[in-house]
Amino acid sequence: MAEIVRENGRVVFTEAMREAYTILVPHMAPYHFDLVINAARSEGYKAELLTTDDYDVIHEGMKYAHNDICVPAMLVIGQFINAIKKRSIDVDKTALVLVQTGGACRASNYISLLRKALIKAGYPDVPVISLNAGGLEKNPGFNVTPRLLHKFHDAILFGDMLMQLVNQTRPYEITPGETDAVHKDVVDDLKAYFNHRTLFTWRKHKRQTKTIIGRFKRIPVDRSQIKPKVGIVGEIYVKYSPLGNNHLERTLEQEGCEAVTPPLYDFFLYSFDSRVYDIKTYGGPRKEKLALKIFVWYVEIRRNKIRKMMRKAGYEPGIPYKAIKRLTQGFIDVGTHTGEGWLLTAEMIDLIRHGAPNIVCTQPFGCLPNHIAGKGMIKKLKKHYPESNIVAIDYDTSASKINQINRITLMVSNAKRNLERKIG
Ligand code: SF4
Repeated sequence: MAEIVRENGRVVFTEAMREAYTILVPHMAPYHFDLVINAARSEGYKAELLTTDDYDVIHEGMKYAHNDICVPAMLVIGQFINAIKKRSIDVDKTALVLVQTGGACRASNYISLLRKALIKAGYPDVPVISLNAGGLEKNPGFNVTPRLLHKFHDAILFGDMLMQLVNQTRPYEITPGETDAVHKDVVDDLKAYFNHRTLFTWRKHKRQTKTIIGRFKRIPVDRSQIKPKVGIVGEIYVKYSPLGNNHLERTLEQEGCEAVTPPLYDFFLYSFDSRVYDIKTYGGPRKEKLALKIFVWYVEIRRNKIRKMMRKAGYEPGIPYKAIKRLTQGFIDVGTHTGEGWLLTAEMIDLIRHGAPNIVCTQPFGCLPNHIAGKGMIKKLKKHYPESNIVAIDYDTSASKINQINRITLMVSNAKRNLERKIG
C-alpha cells in the first residue's frame, strides 16, 4: 500500500499510486465514458468504468448521502460504495474520480460529499481525484497533460457521433441487436486509436470518422414506417445516465420512437463559454478568457467537419454551438448558467424546430436550476410553439418507475397522434 499523504484533510493521489491503483469511474454517459476509459488507459492509468445499476446502488446512496442531496450525487456515491463493498477489489489500491464543475451549483460539492460518505462507510484512505478545468485540487499522480486532454476531447467527439449514429439506426434495424453489435465493435477498435503519441491527429481522426460512419451505413434498415422523434433534455446526469433515467432511450425505442439526445460536447462548450461571460461581465483574467474562446472555436472547427461528413451520409448531426446559443433570444438570458441553465431551454427550442417537438425533460427531484430553465420554460415554449409536446419527469431514488413510464407513454401517444395528423 502506498503511503497516504493528506492535504487539507483530503487524501492526495500521489505519484506512487499512479501505477498501482485502479481508478473507478462512475457511469455517467455510456457512449462517451467507454472511450474516456480507453483514453486514460492509453496513458498508463488503470481505469475502470462502473456499470452497475441494481437497487443496491440506490440503497448505498441513500445510506451514505443525506436524503436532501441531489439524486445524481446519491447515485454516484452509491455506485462507488457499492463497488468497493461488493466486489473483490483491493480497497488499499483503489481511487475514485469525479468531474467537478466549479460552478455555483451543488455539483461542485459532490467531491466533499463523496469523501464524507467514504469516511462514514469506513474507507477514509481512498483518494478521490477531482477532474476539473479550473485547477481546483492538485494530485501529483494524475496529470491532465495536453495529450490526455486531447484524447478526452477525441473521446467526447466520437462519443457524440456514436450516440447519434446508434439512435438514428437502432429503431429501424432489420436484424435486432445489429446496431449494438456494431457499436461494441467500434468501441473495441477505438482502443488502438487512443494509443497515438502525437497531439494533432485530425487526418487520423477523419479517416476513423469515415470508417465508423461507413460501418453504421452498412446496417440494413427499414425506414418505411415514420416514427416520432422524442428529444431527451435535462440535468446532465439524468439526461445521459441509464442509471439516472431508468434507461430512457431504450424505453422510448420500445414505445416505437426514435430518441434524440443532444451532444455532450455542447454542455462543455456552454460551461467554458459561461466562464467567458462571467469574465466579461464581472472581470477576471483576460488570458483565460482568450484561451477559452480559442478552445471553443477550435472544437467547433472539428465538429463542423464531422457534421459535414455525417450529413453527407444521411445522418442528422445537430447544429453548431453558436446557433444553439442564438435560439435563446426572447426566451432566456445567457447569464442564466447555473446547472444546465440556458442550454436546456435552447436545446428544447432546437428540438422543436428540427423535427422533434416531443420532449422528455428529465429533472432530478428538487433540482432548482433545471426546474427554472426546464420545467419553468415549458409554458412559454408551448405558447410560442403550439406543436410542442413536452413532459417533465422527476427522477428520484424513491420515485415510482411506473408513474414515470405512464407519463412518458401518454406523451408518446400524443406524439403518434400528432404525427399521423401531420402526414395525413
Ligand atoms: S443541477 Fe440540479 S441536480 Fe445537478 S447539482 Fe445542481 S441542483 Fe443538483
